[in-house]
Amino acid sequence: AKQDGDGLFQFYVPQLATDLEEKMRLENGLHKALRDVQFSLHYQPKMSAETGELCGIEALIRWQHPELGMIPPDKFIPLAEKSGFILEIDRWVFHEACRQNKAWQDAGLKKIPVSVNISARHFYQGSLKEMILAGLNETGIEPQYISIEITEGVFMQNIDRVIETILFLRSLGIQISIDDFGTGYSSLNKLQLLPISDVKLDRSFIQGISRDEKKSSIVKAIIELVHSMNMKVVAEGVETADESRYCKDLRCDELQGYLFSRPLPAGQFEDMLRSQSSE
Ligand code: C2E
Ligand code: CA
Ligand code: CA
Ligand code: CA
Repeated sequence: AKQDGDGLFQFYVPQLATDLEEKMRLENGLHKALRDVQFSLHYQPKMSAETGELCGIEALIRWQHPELGMIPPDKFIPLAEKSGFILEIDRWVFHEACRQNKAWQDAGLKKIPVSVNISARHFYQGSLKEMILAGLNETGIEPQYISIEITEGVFMQNIDRVIETILFLRSLGIQISIDDFGTGYSSLNKLQLLPISDVKLDRSFIQGISRDEKKSSIVKAIIELVHSMNMKVVAEGVETADESRYCKDLRCDELQGYLFSRPLPAGQFEDMLRSQSSE
């Protein structure tokens, strides 16, 4: 793409082309990934702050690309959201998380809810209700063992449809969590009107909280407010014993993070579940 007298053009085009190429390669690869089962779920525990026991599981998608290796979700979920393919991915993730949790329950392991991340886009245009009902029916999991994590961004558009969908999911007995709370537009006034089960405080609020007075007073105020609306607070991204102690002191209900465990492949998570179930 050489053009005489236009140094800028000449200079920037190659990098641009590579980025675009990579994006297109990933985007095209998504369909094949789903067909050839290159996706898998990893599972990360949520711990009760009060008892220290395992009280929930978050399912997180992984993509093992045959040539490019492990691709993190931050690299392909945004692409899938843009192209609309996220609806297919969400469907697969939801079904697989339900199936796996039911299999663990049938094996006599501790019954705890599994949380599934669902894209905001699914609330606007997909047939989310049908997708959820199909997943429940096909796997036989009880809805009380399912939680759906959505980000605050979901309230930016089409609010009536979003509220209606949330009420429907709650009527089935599914729990609803607000993910990455505090990073998006503040929607506390909207949350108040909805039957939300819990709010997940983003890791940016937790990181270094014991050494940051301003941060800890903000978090304290958020927790009080969330509790006053009868919702639980989950601290995300807890990495140190200090952060954990601090979150407990501030009355967080549940803790999640590398301190307890990284997200694990199903087999390894099962071993952990087994050791907790036999106690
Ligand atoms: P998220 O839902 O906020 O998930 C939490 C992310 O933080 C996960 O990254 C998790 O591995 C990571 N994490 C957990 N504990 C710690 C910690 O102590 N320290 C640090 N630094 N990080 C921690 P992951 O798995 O790479 O996922 C990134 C994002 O991709 C997720 O953020 C979520 O927005 C999206 N995502 C992941 N799986 C799915 C999925 O199945 N469907 C959809 N729609 N989105 C997904
Ligand atoms: Ca999440
Ligand atoms: Ca989060
Ligand atoms: Ca996130």
